[in-house]
This record gives sequence, C-alpha cells and structure tokens, in this order.
Amino acid sequence: MNRHSNIAQVDVRVSTEIRVRGRVQGVGFRPTVWRYARELGLSGEVLNDSSGVLVRAFGSEGAIAALVERIRRAPPPLARIDTIETLPYSGDLPTGFLIAESLGGNTHTQVAPDAAICSNCAAEVASSSERRYRYAFANCTNCGPRLSIVNVIPYDRGNTTMAPFALCRACRSEYDNPADRRFHAEAIACHTCGPKPKLIRLDGRPLGFAQFSMMDDVDAACGLIKNGEIVAIKGIGGYQLACDATKPHTVAYLRQLKKRDAKPFALMARDIDVIKRYCSVSLEDETLLRGPSAPIVLLRADGAEKLPDAIAPGLATLGFMLPTTPMHLLMLRRMDRPVVMTSGNLSDEPQVVSDGEVGERLGCIATYALTHDREIANRIDDSVTRVVAGRPRVIRRARGYAPESIVLPKGFEAAPELLAMGGELKSTFCLVKDGAAILSQHQGDLEDIRTFDDYRKNLALYTNLFDHAPIALVADLHPEYLSSKLARELAAFEARPLLEVQHHHAHVASCLAENGYALDAPAVLGIVLDGLGWGGDETLWGGEFLLADYRRYQRLGTFKPVAMLGGAQAAREPWRNLYAHLMTEMKWPAFATNFGELELHAYLAAKPRAILDAMIRNGINAPQASSCGRLFDAVAAALDICRERQGYEGEAAARLEAMVDEDTLRNEHDTLGYPLAISNLRDAGLPYIEPRAMWSAALGDLVLKTPGPVMAARFHKGLAKSIVAMAKKLAAWDDEARPRRFKTVALTGGCFQNKILFEEVSRRLENEGFAVLSHTRVPANDGGLALGQAAIGAARLIGSNANYIKKQPEGNASCVSVFPDGS
Ligand SMILES: [Zn+2]
Ligand SMILES: [Zn+2]
Repeated sequence: MNRHSNIAQVDVRVSTEIRVRGRVQGVGFRPTVWRYARELGLSGEVLNDSSGVLVRAFGSEGAIAALVERIRRAPPPLARIDTIETLPYSGDLPTGFLIAESLGGNTHTQVAPDAAICSNCAAEVASSSERRYRYAFANCTNCGPRLSIVNVIPYDRGNTTMAPFALCRACRSEYDNPADRRFHAEAIACHTCGPKPKLIRLDGRPLGFAQFSMMDDVDAACGLIKNGEIVAIKGIGGYQLACDATKPHTVAYLRQLKKRDAKPFALMARDIDVIKRYCSVSLEDETLLRGPSAPIVLLRADGAEKLPDAIAPGLATLGFMLPTTPMHLLMLRRMDRPVVMTSGNLSDEPQVVSDGEVGERLGCIATYALTHDREIANRIDDSVTRVVAGRPRVIRRARGYAPESIVLPKGFEAAPELLAMGGELKSTFCLVKDGAAILSQHQGDLEDIRTFDDYRKNLALYTNLFDHAPIALVADLHPEYLSSKLARELAAFEARPLLEVQHHHAHVASCLAENGYALDAPAVLGIVLDGLGWGGDETLWGGEFLLADYRRYQRLGTFKPVAMLGGAQAAREPWRNLYAHLMTEMKWPAFATNFGELELHAYLAAKPRAILDAMIRNGINAPQASSCGRLFDAVAAALDICRERQGYEGEAAARLEAMVDEDTLRNEHDTLGYPLAISNLRDAGLPYIEPRAMWSAALGDLVLKTPGPVMAARFHKGLAKSIVAMAKKLAAWDDEARPRRFKTVALTGGCFQNKILFEEVSRRLENEGFAVLSHTRVPANDGGLALGQAAIGAARLIGSNANYIKKQPEGNASCVSVFPDGS
C-alpha cells in the first residue's frame, strides 16, 4: 500500500512521525496518545525512547493534525510538553494503532515528581461500590508516588519499593489494559495485593479497645487525633506528626516535645471549605492547593475563626495543604477542622523515613503511629509555596516538584553534563544534562549530620536515576561550606575540574535561568538581598547590586557593611545587629543623650558594652557584612521583635513583615517612609545604602510611641524606595542622553520572600520602566542556588577551550571593567 498517495484531494493520507519531548514518560502518555489515535481513526504506533515519546501515525492529514493538536492541548495531567516536532515518515506501520515496546535499553531516564491523589481516585476511595473503597494506597497513572518509591532506573515496579507486592489478577488486567486509567501505573495496588495501613503504639504495647474503629485503622487514627492525641503518620516522603490544630494545649505540647520553639507548623484540612474558615483563599491559592503538587500554601490568616497562636507564632499567615494521599484523605473524612501536619523529626533533624527508627526517634512525641508496609525509598519534605504579586512562588521545593527538570534557556543546548553542589542552608544540588537542569529536592541544613548523610545519598541516587556523568563540578566560593568541601574532595578524587561560583552571582543566574533568559542576552542588574554569602573580595556580602550575565558579574552597589558581633551568633541574636548598627551610626554618647528615655536604651546598657565595643574596634569575631538580612534583624530588634534571639533563620524578618500595617503602607505619603540614603564606600568607591537617617527617624518614632505596625510599614517602604533609587542611579551613565546601562532587573535572595518588600520594589521598578524578573519555580533563597551555579558553570564551559576548565576565581569588587550595556 502506498502511504504517500499523491492524489490531490482534501483527504490526503500520509504517514507522519511525531516527536514529543518533556516529562512524557511514566505519566500515562502512551495510552493517552493511543486513545486519541483510535478515536481519530489513525493507524500506527506510540513508543518511549531515550528522547521521550515517539508517535508514528498513518491517516488523513486532517486527522493527524487533529492528533497533534489534542496531544498539545490535552496531555495527561502529570505530563509537561517541552516540544512537539513532526516529520514525514516512510517506514512500515501496523494496520491498527499499537502501544509498541520501548526502543533502546535506557528509555525511562525520567522520574516524575510524586503527585497528590487525583479526583478519580478520590471518588473511588469514597465510594462503597468500588473495589478500592477506603483503600489507603489507591493511585493511577495520573497520581500517586514516584520519586519517593524509586530505588534505581528504569522506573519499573521491580525497581521501586512496590516490588514486594505481587499484582493480583484484577490489578494485573488493569495494568495491561491501555484503555484503563491504571495502564502501566507502576504503583498500582488494591486491598488484595497492595500495602496495608496499620495503627500501632510506639511504646510496643498492644492497642486498647478504645483505639479500634468500626471502620479501619486509618479511621481509628482520626478518632485518636480528635481525642487530643499526637499521632505519627507515615506520609509519602517521610513520617509526619499530626494533632488537632484547634486544641491549644496539644499544639503547645507538640511544640515543646519537638523542641521547636517558634517555627510555624504546617496544617492540613480535608477540603477548601475548612481552610476558608481560617484564611482568605484567592483563585490562585486554590489552584495551587488543588494541583497535583499539592504543596503547603501560605495564606493570610484573616478568616472568621482563629487557630491557637502556637501554630505560627507572630505571623499573619498559616501554611495549609490538602490531603496528599488516599490515606490522608480517608483519615480526615470525619475531621471538620484543621490538623497540624508537621514533619516527623526533632528540631532541625531530617524527618524520619524508616519504620525501624520511628519508635526510637518519635516515640517520645507520639504514642501512636499510623504506618504501613511500603518502604519510603527517598525522603521528600512537603513543599512550601506562596502567591505573591498574583503568581505562585516556590519557597521550599520538594514533594510534587522535584525532580522536575527545568529546560535551560537558549544558548545552553550544548551544555556539558555538570554537577552543581548548592549552598549550606536549605541545600539542594543540580545536575545539568541534555540542555536541562535537574534540581534536587530541598534537603535542609548540611550542618546537621543526618542531613549531610542524606545529601550524599541523594547525590548517588540522582547520578543513577539520570544516568549522569558530569565532566566538572561547580561549588560555592565559601571555603567552609560542607557542600564546597565535598566538591573539592570529589573533584580531587575523580580528577575532575571544579568551578567556583560567587554566592550572589549564583542567585542572579538562578533567577535568569528559570526565566528562560538567553545565554547571550545583555547583562541585567541583579538585586540580591539575603543573609550572608562569601563575597568575591573575601568579605561577607548580603545586600548586593550586581551587573551580571551568566558568565560574569560586576559589583556595582551594596548595603553598608556593619560588624556582625560574635560572627554566627549575630544571625541568631538580633540585638547584636541593632547594637552594631547604632554604634556605627551614632556611637553610645549620642544614642544615650538623644534616646536615653527609651526602654531600648536600658536594654542595651545592660549588655557587656565594653567587650562589644572592643570587638567592633579591633575587628575580633566581628566580621563586616553588607547584609540586608542583618539590617532586618536590627530593625526588628528595635521594635522588640525577637530581640534576644530568633528561633529559626529569618524569624525576626518574617515577624516584622507580619506586623506591617497595610493601611500605612498603602495610604501614608511616601515621604514618611524611613529615609535611606545612597553614599559611597570609601575604599571601593561603591555606592551603598546608608541607613543612618533611617535610624534617627525610627528611634524618633519610638520616642513618640508610634505604633510598631506603622513603624514596620515605614521601614519597608523606605527600604524599597532606596533600593529602587539605587537601581536608577546605577542604570544611568554620567551622560544622561545615553540609554540605560541595563533594562532588566532580577530580584533574588531570601529577603525577597518578604511579600511586602518584593511587591513594593517590583512595582516601583516597573513604574520606572525596568523589566523585572523574579522567582516562581525555584526558591529565591539558597534552595535555588544550585540552579544558578549550574547555569554559570555551563556558561563558562560552553564555547571555551579545554584550558578554561580549571579552577578560576571570578571578578570582584575591585575589577574596573564595565560590561557592554543592554543597548
Ligand atoms: Zn488517580
Ligand atoms: Zn490488586
């Protein structure tokens, strides 16, 4: 039969090859194409290969065009299409339409993120006529576990922690039937053949009669929570601790047992209506909550009902998520109020994943555990997101997002395979492969030995999952980061080159990369506001204005460097930064004369001032840092927020943001925002943000007993204004007639998680005619660092000769070159 008939008429029959790239394997792509093709009367085949999905179809031109359109418009829910290409095809094809065997050995090179229970599975477990009624592990190709259960590639059942569960006959026929929603769903299971939930006591004693439910163990856990118990729950990526969020004593008790004095607890509710009683939920919030990633969403806590303060002390938001697995869904069915659903760990340790450890590590907190007999292969925390300026932003990228790849922008197609090691806090790492970046899930702070172990285990896992062989490693310049030390060891051991990247440059590159900013596009102004990073001049940076592209950066401006009294202690004790700021700006006699009546004066007078002054004077254990985070700490301390110490990184800043009076922010005249000037640093000649006048105004407000919320608003507004003034100043050449040095500004660094600061700065920049880039898919904080390192490493290697591949320090503040501007 001639497939390329040239008879000129409307219904020309042709053979076409359709190549689909993106996240298209293990997400039900082939059966979807199969269904569409059959409905359109096409013959041919669909298969997986090493590049994605390949469709070969024969039929009328119109039907083939319709097939491409349907694939594009309505792919399976968990798929993400990056490209679709079509080419004429001349080989033989079957008469019907088949799902063919995969080509090549290494086809399943992708593992999808874990996905929350879909609406079809949710309906099944709720319906007593379905065979999976109240089955806690129901899933299909559109939902269920992925990364959390995989041990090695390819992603087949035998390589996951579902391997011990042999399929029953009913599940097998669903698995083999292309028309079934569970066709090739590797985690397919039912009451007969799959994992089973089990309620246990962690002290080893038998369950009492009171803990039995008429229904099942999952429902019994609900009864326990209602009765005020704390229950450990084996979730998708680790154990969680659950309790009734409306019971103040239980919540306070959990906080005490977990040794977690202030960090907010995440909440779970059975449906949106429960959440709406406590928080306002926008359309964007709702979409995020209900999406397959089902993250924790930070919502404004201004509903009719209130939860105990101990849930999120001092904050104006609550972090809610919807049930992520059938087990959570079934457990909460009888629960008409929120439950705390926090990670099952002590303090800052990683969450418990193994059944062997749960008694030992969580037994002191929870009496009961709702567990099951499917192992968790990989620890994955719940993700945290927030809608800011109308767009969802990922703050902690883990369950539901990792290991989703991020296609690198134009120009990176030839990037070699690289491994970027990330930072120290909120650590992640990033692989570069086939023009895409694969960012690992959030792993926590590497200073914790268990977290660091996990980080190394995940490095090995990802290397295997993505069949990855990096030609070079990329790490932060910081000499003491554990990730950098490990990078140096690995590079030496494996004789691979190591590229070192400046911390804030990596933040800018991360923002550019996730926004698809092309490799050879003009340099942008990166405004990087964070706590601390190792600077290009071996001092500590943390409030930087960098003219940067992927290859280079030049530090154009900064925040005023102020001593960090006691080094790392200054990051924990905000009063230290306040004292250092005040002594830098006005010295003690002036402070005492003008503000001696303040309670703040008495507070600081009681500190060991002679020692502190000597530390500042002699620069002993008091490194200078141009940190925006520490400025926030100092201002918070002045307002008596976390003055003595903060319980977690960024607490003081988060509470300062939460305090802001929105009315003052919106309606008070701009001139009442605290004045921050722009001066020049003596040595480097760099312009910097000078807070001296701000301190006079703020202390004056304290004397006048101005309410804290008004002061917090004035600080945010003043700071935003000065940041934008700095950007304008840096954009202008001496000759006013010349076009600006840059047209685009990238906002990055952990301080930009502050909604008010972000919205004030971006709105004002846009009003000044700048294009603003910001983070959505990748955290603005150090969790996004590895992506930036990867992009910079790739950019430096692309087009360079082999000699370039060696350790090379970057440019720093003293460099005088000025890049070509954006004109
Ligand atoms: Zn499903
Ligand atoms: Zn079964």
